[in-house]
Amino acid sequence: MDKKNFRPESLMMSYGYKPELSEGAIKCPIFQTSTFVFKTAEEGKAFFEVAYGLREKGPTEEMGLIYSRLNNPDLEILENRLCLWDEAEDCAVFESGMSAISTVMMEFLDPGDYVLYSNPTYGGTYHFVKAVLSRFGINSLAFHAFETEENIKKLIEEKGIGDKLKMIYIETPANPTNALVDIEACRRIADQYSTADKKVYLTVDNTYMGPVWSHPLKHGADLVVYSATKYIGGHSDVIAGAVLGSQDVMTRVKTLRTFLGNMAGPWTGWLLMRSLETLKVRMTEQAINAEKVAEYLNAHPKVDKVHYLGFVDEKEDPRNYAIYKRQYSCAGAMISFDIKGGEKEAFRFLNALQLMHLAVSLGSTESLVEHPSSMTHSDFTAEDKALYGINDSLVRLSIGVENYEDLITDISQALDRV
Ligand SMILES: *Cc1c(COP(=O)(O)O)cnc(C)c1O
Repeated sequence: MDKKNFRPESLMMSYGYKPELSEGAIKCPIFQTSTFVFKTAEEGKAFFEVAYGLREKGPTEEMGLIYSRLNNPDLEILENRLCLWDEAEDCAVFESGMSAISTVMMEFLDPGDYVLYSNPTYGGTYHFVKAVLSRFGINSLAFHAFETEENIKKLIEEKGIGDKLKMIYIETPANPTNALVDIEACRRIADQYSTADKKVYLTVDNTYMGPVWSHPLKHGADLVVYSATKYIGGHSDVIAGAVLGSQDVMTRVKTLRTFLGNMAGPWTGWLLMRSLETLKVRMTEQAINAEKVAEYLNAHPKVDKVHYLGFVDEKEDPRNYAIYKRQYSCAGAMISFDIKGGEKEAFRFLNALQLMHLAVSLGSTESLVEHPSSMTHSDFTAEDKALYGINDSLVRLSIGVENYEDLITDISQALDRV
């Protein structure tokens, strides 16, 4: 029986771990060690040959443990488990989402290249592209998340960057309004501008909907990146990131990680393995709660518009509806809404909440609420805020695992105070 035939949620407690190698412990211990003892000098030599790519790994040979910047059991087992959700060939775990994203960009972009990215995008990613990559001569061009395939191609032609385009980087659904980007359309654009000696890589930040509800590799992405701080970690107690893809691209990502030294440590690896055991139940409960909260908000007289994927309407918005149905198996647990009024009303609401916490970040067991215009998206220009609907009245909610009736009671009493 091939264990890979079981569903990921059934394998998160055991996959890739051999109790007999750890005194029979049912759980993988924390391998809090910087280096590993070789049995013989010959073994050490053989491990290094594989690690440094001096020869191919033999058919039954396992990569030996050398030094925790190169490999550590807590990271390797975690990476094998993460591969199951996205059906990826390989995975690399990082000390943050930003280190995962920046390592991918540094590995696949050279001076003179262009990265085309969807906007709005996570603030840290935006800053890295605009303020850091530019210092190394790497150029960027943004397109709006709601733009059509034709218009994105038109933009590439108008700017004349087709022969320098090296990566398309997208975030979908876009934070904070849940705008959708069509992954398959981006694949077609990447292919159109790829040549025999210049592949255009498609990278998708799947933090909002993965790894349970969306699998971008199946829609043609070359690389999928995560802030594992969010749903994967899920308890607001760890910062981490992950990258997944084919063996080819991951060998490159892991090699750069070895030399930047931005891999996660064993303790982070162990915490994330613990989190993965409950990933599916947490996210399932969060999505059920989000649907109830979204319905409540939608009917409330003090609420203008609710941005929730479950409300994307087939007749009103056929394009987004088609993307939603193709890319996602669930409406997710992120909601934003415009309260009637502006910042004053939004702040009254935020300050009156008793159960939900006023904090940025998302995907955790506790519900979090924030004000994008003055917090996560405060560095957007007034024009960009208007363009993307990041109004002063907009409030973003990340729904947790509390009882949804209590969440609604809390929201109700806070709206009463507005
Ligand atoms: C939080 C986040 C990141 C950055 O991840 P860190 O773990 O904070 O470094 C990147 N992308 C998205 C969509 C995020 O929400």
